[in-house]
Amino acid sequence: MSRISVSKGGARPTQRNASLERHTQRFSDVRRDLEEIGVFCKGTVLKRMMKCGKARCACASDPTKRHGPYYELTYKANGKTVNVKLSTEAAPLYKAAAQQYRKLKSLLNRLDKLSKTILRQQAKLAESRQQIEEKAGLSR
Ligand SMILES: [Zn+2]
Repeated sequence: MSRISVSKGGARPTQRNASLERHTQRFSDVRRDLEEIGVFCKGTVLKRMMKCGKARCACASDPTKRHGPYYELTYKANGKTVNVKLSTEAAPLYKAAAQQYRKLKSLLNRLDKLSKTILRQQAKLAESRQQIEEKAGLSR
């Protein structure tokens, strides 16, 4: 419990403010990037070549003669893997949407990290303000 301890160095609070401003600015920049996120979709689009199961078909023995490509969207929901068949036409749309989802997630991660830094600095600032008030109160 060293709340009433004297602050270490006079320049500290202003440095902390500059850093806080820088991080707050970066937070705003990243948040602006969020607006550019298009329709998104959790998951991965897989391209599959399939065997038809007929013993006489070339696909049975030659992997390059398999049928397809067939597309699938796969994602996890409640711990289970869900596969959704996609038409050839739908596949690129979902692929782009899945990419948007990954971008969204990386933006969220950055916002989360920046937020934690900002919160830490805001808390320190509030604490040092409290110390200054306590000191002022004591000297009266
Ligand atoms: Zn076949």
